[in-house]
Amino acid sequence: MIGQLLAVLDRDTVRGYRAQIRRSVAYAVLEGLAVGLTLPTLAAIIGGDSEASTRWLILLALATALALAAHAWTVQKGTRATFDAMAAVQVLEIEHLRTLPLDWFTPSRNAEVLTLLWPGAISTTRNILLNLAALARGIVTPVIVVVFAALVSPTAAVVMGMSIPLLYLVHRVTTRHLEAAEHVDHAANTEATARIIEYAESQTTLRSADRNNLGMALLTSALDDLDKTARRGVRSEIAARTGFGTAVNIAVAAIVLVVGIRLLDNPTDIATLIALSTLALRFAEPVMTVAAVARMLRTSSATVTRTVDFLTTPSLSEPVEPQTLPEGEALSIQIDDVDVRYDSISEPALSAVNFDVPLGSTVAIVGASGAGKSTLLRLIPRFADPTTGAVRIGGVDVRDISSADLHTRIGVIMPEVVLLDRTIRDNVTANRPDANQDELDRVATLSGLDEVIARIPGGWNAQVGPRGTNLSGGERQRVQIARVALQNPSIVILDEATAALDPLSERIVQKWVSNLHGRCTVVIVAHRLHTIATADYVVVLEGGEVIESGTPADLAEAGGQFHRMINTRTDTSQWRSTTQVRLPHKGGVR
Ligand code: ADP
Repeated sequence: MIGQLLAVLDRDTVRGYRAQIRRSVAYAVLEGLAVGLTLPTLAAIIGGDSEASTRWLILLALATALALAAHAWTVQKGTRATFDAMAAVQVLEIEHLRTLPLDWFTPSRNAEVLTLLWPGAISTTRNILLNLAALARGIVTPVIVVVFAALVSPTAAVVMGMSIPLLYLVHRVTTRHLEAAEHVDHAANTEATARIIEYAESQTTLRSADRNNLGMALLTSALDDLDKTARRGVRSEIAARTGFGTAVNIAVAAIVLVVGIRLLDNPTDIATLIALSTLALRFAEPVMTVAAVARMLRTSSATVTRTVDFLTTPSLSEPVEPQTLPEGEALSIQIDDVDVRYDSISEPALSAVNFDVPLGSTVAIVGASGAGKSTLLRLIPRFADPTTGAVRIGGVDVRDISSADLHTRIGVIMPEVVLLDRTIRDNVTANRPDANQDELDRVATLSGLDEVIARIPGGWNAQVGPRGTNLSGGERQRVQIARVALQNPSIVILDEATAALDPLSERIVQKWVSNLHGRCTVVIVAHRLHTIATADYVVVLEGGEVIESGTPADLAEAGGQFHRMINTRTDTSQWRSTTQVRLPHKGGVR
């Protein structure tokens, strides 16, 4: 378990774990010596040998003092190592999270990550580091005790020695199902967490659709499962503890029995026999302690497996030798024979998609729900990679561009704006913390945020609340536009689900987009006729394939799908005509 974990942790944290293992073993050896030395000491005292008693007592006192000091040192250093390791594990997890493709994030995985960060991080750090001493003591001390016992009674030593693997076996059997129970318990826990989040977040839907009972039923069923697995878990643990405790008691009884039989054979050696019996009892104590920490270590082992699985989930790879993008404002985009397949659906979400977007132009992606628009949009800022094919910007494959460079050059506007729970200023300057007030004022005017700042208490320093919920949808959208405008990207990706916006915010988005024309290459998932009409090109997706592409005016005349989509709308006066730059297209695009 520990080896598995150390393989994915950073060097400093690994060093912390290794040092704690060494400290724990050193403590266990000293503790073993202190226990073992009780045998000759007791034998000397009971036997009335005062000179030997003094000698053994001094040694025993020394070993006991050293063992106590080592214990204090191990706990103190272990506690510090725990806090360092916990922070390091959480940072590793958060950093890994940033590198995962967006498709990885599902409600149950989000809940899983939540439990890995907390309380999972405790399980992989504190529960291991602070129990290592008890574990080492439970293994090393009995072995040392057996060595001491062998010096006075080989028979008793053999019984003790044999009981160690036997007890280990009993321990394995009695705790075998604990790990499986822990997996079931964890799955139920994750499911319940996901359901609670879902229930809280979907209140509007549940209430407006009068389906509160459905949401409640899903939640209570998850909580029922959690309750059942928790009960099973407690039963398993009690059975494991009782089983192991009984086995240890049987082992101690066997040792005392052997000692007793020896007493019958040689009644004069009473001192050694009393000392051996005492040792047998002390031999059992560290073994029992291991059983007590076993449950915690089993839980840790299951959490370590999940943590390692998470940390080894393939990231979107960073290029070994990143290529630099051409300087200049706009960048062209090439979608080159792209296929995207999701594991959960048999049909490809995108199939042989080909088109080029010349620099400075605006392309509207249109199509029915499920046509593949969002999937296509996600490929450009490399939130996910295509299954086959390539996406190039400025002629460079996005997989060959460092993520920092890519995210600086591409601005992304999504319909669901989630802001950081900081001030408006912090959110606008998220990508440009060095921006001065003049720049902020300029983007505030451009995005319509100036009106919001003038109106709300605190202005630029107003707190937006968790996920930005102190602001309306339109206000959050303006913050997002101001942030992207300040970023001054070469490409803007925009999912125009403007239905959530008030008419003023919608006009602001449209004005901002039309002002980008020529300076920035824009790709819009378009739902509004106005946006479609003013785009340079339109790409029509259906079932993951490009079925039409060209200028809006051309497509409107072509009599195809696009024509049918818009034929109820008559105002085509603003549409860009065929005299403008054509959409260069490749195979598969009609
Ligand atoms: P659109 O944006 O045009 O509505 P999408 O790109 O969201 O379409 O979806 C295209 C297809 O891919 C749909 O069939 C959808 O169910 C599926 N899909 C989208 N995202 C995922 C995902 N993360 N996992 C599995 N299937 C997905």
